[in-house]
Amino acid sequence: MTFEEIGLKSEVLKSLKELGFEAPTPIQEQAIPYLLGEHSDFVGLAQTGTGKTAAFGLPLITKIDNHATVPQGLVICPTRELCLQIAKDLETYAKYLKINIVAVYGGTDIRRQMTEIKKGVAIVVATPGRLMDLIQRKAISLASVEYVVLDEADEMLNMGFKEDIDSILESTPEHKNVWLFSATMPNEVARIAKTYMENPFEVSIGHKNQSNENIDHIYYMVKEKDRYAAVKRLIDFNPQIYGLIFCRTRQETGAVAEKLAKEGYSAEPLHGDLSQAMRDRVMDRFRSKDLQILVATDVAARGLDIDNITHVINYNLPDDIENYTHRSGRTARAGKKGESLVLINTREGGKIRAIEKQMRTTFTQGSVPNAEEICEIQLMKLINKVIKTDVREKEIQKFMPTVMAEFEDLSKEEVIKHFVSAEFNRFIEYYERAGDLNAQNSKDDRGSDDRSNRRERKSDGIESGKTRFFVSIGSRDGLNPGGLLRHICDATGLNSSNIGRIDIMPSFSFFEADDQYATDMVNQVNGTNYEGHDVSIEVTKVKSGGGSGHRGGGGGRKDGGGFGGKFQGNRDGGQRSEGGGQRREGGFRSEGSGQRREGGFRKEGGARSEGGFRKEGGARSEGGFRKEGGARSEGGFRKEGGARSEGGFKKEGGSRSEGGFKKEGTSQRREGGFKKEGGSGSSDRSSSFGKPFKKKL
Ligand code: AMP
Repeated sequence: MTFEEIGLKSEVLKSLKELGFEAPTPIQEQAIPYLLGEHSDFVGLAQTGTGKTAAFGLPLITKIDNHATVPQGLVICPTRELCLQIAKDLETYAKYLKINIVAVYGGTDIRRQMTEIKKGVAIVVATPGRLMDLIQRKAISLASVEYVVLDEADEMLNMGFKEDIDSILESTPEHKNVWLFSATMPNEVARIAKTYMENPFEVSIGHKNQSNENIDHIYYMVKEKDRYAAVKRLIDFNPQIYGLIFCRTRQETGAVAEKLAKEGYSAEPLHGDLSQAMRDRVMDRFRSKDLQILVATDVAARGLDIDNITHVINYNLPDDIENYTHRSGRTARAGKKGESLVLINTREGGKIRAIEKQMRTTFTQGSVPNAEEICEIQLMKLINKVIKTDVREKEIQKFMPTVMAEFEDLSKEEVIKHFVSAEFNRFIEYYERAGDLNAQNSKDDRGSDDRSNRRERKSDGIESGKTRFFVSIGSRDGLNPGGLLRHICDATGLNSSNIGRIDIMPSFSFFEADDQYATDMVNQVNGTNYEGHDVSIEVTKVKSGGGSGHRGGGGGRKDGGGFGGKFQGNRDGGQRSEGGGQRREGGFRSEGSGQRREGGFRKEGGARSEGGFRKEGGARSEGGFRKEGGARSEGGFRKEGGARSEGGFKKEGGSRSEGGFKKEGTSQRREGGFKKEGGSGSSDRSSSFGKPFKKKL
């Protein structure tokens, strides 16, 4: 069915076209024709992200008299954010219809809203509390309302708006149409339907309490004390995360967000103790992707309708199972895939079973990534970024003779090894101290053999009998697990049973294949083309005792860069993602805490941080290529700003340079030049190629 066939006004079709809505979503396909009819009491059981706003919004703006000056349509929803979102969506759909739409919600000046209503309004989008206030002040009359939409009815009842909803509905004319949308159908919602509707047409997208099929539900069993560390590993393992972390209480929300922010993650809290202005600010930053992670309570996150959330992390399970549906429903919106990750302790397995039963979904058990797995992901990200970095020939030209002279005695492979080691070395401390965070799982023996599942892994992360390959392209090149599987099978003649786990990252990927095909695999796949992109693969590592699995230059990626065997190196702190400047290119900005840090694995300063790959630090950066801002850089290239550079190149500003080049005015002084070992300047900390670790979408 098309939107044209459904019977919408041409003006509405025009705006849908502009929005790029090509075809109705399932809920729209079922709801819109019915809602356009005469009698239209309606119950839609649909999650957020299914297109339900348009499912009621399009018929509403089509049916309403667009010259109306008193409310004909009333949309009630649980939160201010949702209220604003719905009003905005309706305005967009009604762009060519000139309908007066007003959003009324709490936390802002009521008088301004009263004035707007007075000016004339055809559709009111309201939160229950503020609407009650307006009714009591006689600032709004609902006597002409013909259509009442109750959006996220279960949420409104959860939030204690039962009486308000009853009063509001009683303030509307008896003959009206009620359209109710709810993700779940608890008894209270059923009661509303029974009380205020006549033979409603019921549409259910999926099972009543069923989860969106695009969501992967994964639980991780950890000890209570490891919850926070486990969350960090999950974030580190998913550097591109754009996620929501749910906590149970405001205090916990604040504490988790604060710890993450202090450790350099781009995270902020959202809970009821914050002022409305602060919540707005955080929401704006999150929406604009200036913030990567929002740590929220269930209540604060209600109505938070943001597309593209990649992960929902349940710091712990909600008390009420239905809340889990809402939490997880924040990801995988609009047909996209998403993951809902849950941390449970060893006694909470039963709760997972209960959710599975109620939502008719299945959880897989995950294993919290180990340090090596995280390193691999982060390092590959680094390498990939380095490869894709534009070389600014002009700017570096003048340094090149000296740089080349410094590298003169090293072969290409050695240079790459040094470069890679500069990162690897800092993981040693982690290996020494970072343990396995997976708690013993007594009963759950459900295997998971799906290849996209990175759970059920041995300590080296690779399924036994399999070799792991790096692939030079990722989701940004249009690759998905099915596509990669087909591509490998086509290129090699193998079938899918020979291929194991597949991990698609934005700009590169991994897969595992039976050991015996490893050599042929590289020859057969390298040089192939996937949808216009050259594909090259290489073995990432072999299992224990195997030494290096890296084939430098031999049929691997064009640069021959890769990692093999065990990580080695000196003892050197953790991994730091970035020397903290103020602005970061694109993506997220973590507001510098101003603290000094040396990457995710804290080397000093109080409690040791458990393996976080911080996004970017505070005021000081040690080692690494620093592009802008910040106060100090050691052992890297510094481009601008800041006060001091050690062991690197300094281009401008600053007052002191050791072990590098300094160019101030006409004088150029050199002490020690470009360091060969570890890239560290005078500091004993090794250099970090910070930027590529940036958590950027
Ligand atoms: P909702 O469930 O109303 O919050 O909608 C989820 C997302 O899907 C929003 O970003 C909508 O703009 C988008 N959307 C709704 N209907 C369609 C459609 N027919 N085609 C494409 N996108 C849609």
